[in-house]
Amino acid sequence: MHNNVLRVYDDVTGAIGCTPLIKLNKIATDHGIKCQVFAKCDFFSAGGSSKDRIGLSMILEAEKRGTIKPGDTIVEATSGNTGIGLVLTALARGYKSILTIPDKMSDEKINILRALGAKVIITPTDVPLAHPDSYVSLAIRIGQEPGHFYINQYNNQDNQLAHFKTTSVEIWEQMQGKLDYMFICTGTCGTITGTGRGLHKHDPSIKIVGVDPVGSVLARPVEMNPPPKSYKMEGIGQSRVPGNMDYTEVFEFIKVDDLESFQMAREIIEKQGLLVGGSCGSVLLGTFNYLKEKGLDQDENLRCVVFMPDGVRNYMSKLINDNWMVGNGFYPIERLQEEDHPLADKTISDLKNLLPLPYYDARLTVNDCFDLFKKGHSMVPIRANGIITGVVTKNSLVRCVVEKKLHGMSSAAHCTQREYLKVPQETPLSVISKMLKTEVAVLAVAYGDNGKIRTIYVLTQNEIMEIMHESMKEVI
Ligand code: PMP
Repeated sequence: MHNNVLRVYDDVTGAIGCTPLIKLNKIATDHGIKCQVFAKCDFFSAGGSSKDRIGLSMILEAEKRGTIKPGDTIVEATSGNTGIGLVLTALARGYKSILTIPDKMSDEKINILRALGAKVIITPTDVPLAHPDSYVSLAIRIGQEPGHFYINQYNNQDNQLAHFKTTSVEIWEQMQGKLDYMFICTGTCGTITGTGRGLHKHDPSIKIVGVDPVGSVLARPVEMNPPPKSYKMEGIGQSRVPGNMDYTEVFEFIKVDDLESFQMAREIIEKQGLLVGGSCGSVLLGTFNYLKEKGLDQDENLRCVVFMPDGVRNYMSKLINDNWMVGNGFYPIERLQEEDHPLADKTISDLKNLLPLPYYDARLTVNDCFDLFKKGHSMVPIRANGIITGVVTKNSLVRCVVEKKLHGMSSAAHCTQREYLKVPQETPLSVISKMLKTEVAVLAVAYGDNGKIRTIYVLTQNEIMEIMHESMKEVI
């Protein structure tokens, strides 16, 4: 433990792990929880997440076995944090790195990896893992080239070993051997398996509770899992069970949804001053809900540790961006309302010349998109079965044509970006104007009684300028 000791390290890997345990007094009290709740803050690690530990472990253990030698290239399919963790160790020990990342991941993580000198390849999120274009299939293929080593964090046992050897030891020491519940969210499942094994070695009665997002299939019993669906939370949940999952270490699971998880993450930041990432919200939400469901929440002697994997640095444009929170339905519209704004009482029904967009589905081609943009469109939403599957912007069109080598007759569905802001049609134009400070366009959507989209309007600064100009003329 280096808690009270100021140390000097040979390189950055010395500053991996050994993270603080911080009591969550205020937020627990505000949620009516009387138990002692401690956060294991792994975002204090050198690269900003728990994945620094596994990056170090997976490279050092492979070196020990003689599987890799300095100068080789390590290859991994990663949602970002593992990439950062791997590259820290790779830099310190003389390896090159190639990382494949699904396109739902934050630009922040990708930029960090590129700044660290790694080669990053972005892959589509909405393809099954077995598909040749998935981030895992691509990493496996590259890893087969000579001098390349595929890390395979999902099945690599040196992942859970890192948490067995370090995380669990730190927690046991920090809790002075008195711990009843440990709450951990699951992705590769290395944290839950390794920490569980390590803690159970000391005290088999410690209960490990897994926190799994709705849309993932990791919770057990399987009946807990509604049909898989996509969700916005990054780093947690899976569509299949990784080799690193050892269910015998897990006492029970609890499911959590995106909305309350993102709100809880913001609440942790606001109330505890801890600059956490989204999945910390998921795990604390799971903790509070679990304690309440089991009638444990009033037990002042119950000692719980909540594992917090990464920090807000990875989500500057999302979690702590109110535009993003509102535009994804995680915060109410009122959050962005300014009473004295000149457009505060105007909505899209005041925009005289605005027409709803026609229905565009996957039959729309790349050529059609170029034509629509030339005619002045800013954003083209693609729909299927009453939902928006993605939007094409000028940027996403140009980028995808180049990166995916598309031709004019390719489906526009290959050019969509997943991130866009969407609001109800009654939203005040003042709010939309605020959102447009960072966005090229905002979608105003109305739903029919069947829950499917009825009409979509695309709003840009052009519409805002027009109505502002009109209202200025009225004043004159
Ligand atoms: N939260 C975040 C932000 C992560 O990046 C990860 C790792 N994918 C997890 C939680 C889950 O940790 P593990 O992979 O050890 O299950």
